[in-house]
Amino acid sequence: MAAKQNNICISNYSDESRRYKSTWPQRAWFACGCATLLISLAKTTLLIAAAAPTASPLAWLELAVAALIGYAAADLGSGIFHWAVDNYGTAETPVFGPQIESFRAHHQHPSEITKCDTAGVLYVLAAVTTVAVLPFSLLSDDAVLLVFVVVFAGFGMFSLKFHAWAHTPRRKLPALVAALQDAGIILRWSDHAKHHRPPFDGNYCTVSGVWNRVLDEYKVFAAADVVVFRVTGVRPRSWSEPSSDWSQILD
Ligand SMILES: [Zn+2]
Ligand SMILES: [Zn+2]
Repeated sequence: MAAKQNNICISNYSDESRRYKSTWPQRAWFACGCATLLISLAKTTLLIAAAAPTASPLAWLELAVAALIGYAAADLGSGIFHWAVDNYGTAETPVFGPQIESFRAHHQHPSEITKCDTAGVLYVLAAVTTVAVLPFSLLSDDAVLLVFVVVFAGFGMFSLKFHAWAHTPRRKLPALVAALQDAGIILRWSDHAKHHRPPFDGNYCTVSGVWNRVLDEYKVFAAADVVVFRVTGVRPRSWSEPSSDWSQILD
């Protein structure tokens, strides 16, 4: 039987009762991604600990700035990725087809992402993290660069989990997650809700959402859509509103 494509988590189980369960390959990739982050974090910590006795205030400032840039870059990267898969390609697009299809389905059934296993939601980003970050972390001895990479990869890999929490009723959120949302450290429900309302062309960032205001105010993605159209002739899906592809279907 064909795979059931139901949301940002895509289960291969044909059994309806296991619709939201992750598969073993998805769990394996998620475990690899987590292991990559832990190995990278451990190596970074050891490098910093070794240099700490003689580190200058400027060196500590560099580490702090690297972490901040990594955090901000992860939010921006999540927005660019989300804008791209929301607007371009189809389920048949090589490599990204399943992600494109699942984001389209997410617009029709936004709350389903909250029912999915974490591994089923994050396994693609975990696989990318493993392949891209692990070799770099093992080979590099530059603590500043490693801090940037670990923070960027960590927040980037979990960006879809922050997205899922932004759809979760507050009473069901762990207290720490609710506090992080309240502090604006991770995406607030109220910020992401705007993404699911017409004209469906903004609020794409899903780590903290800190970039959303500036990107939307200066219409950066709208300008990028125009550039893509002029260069390739491809129209973004956000120009076809209102469309059943984007509107929530009441179950
Ligand atoms: Zn979207
Ligand atoms: Zn959403």
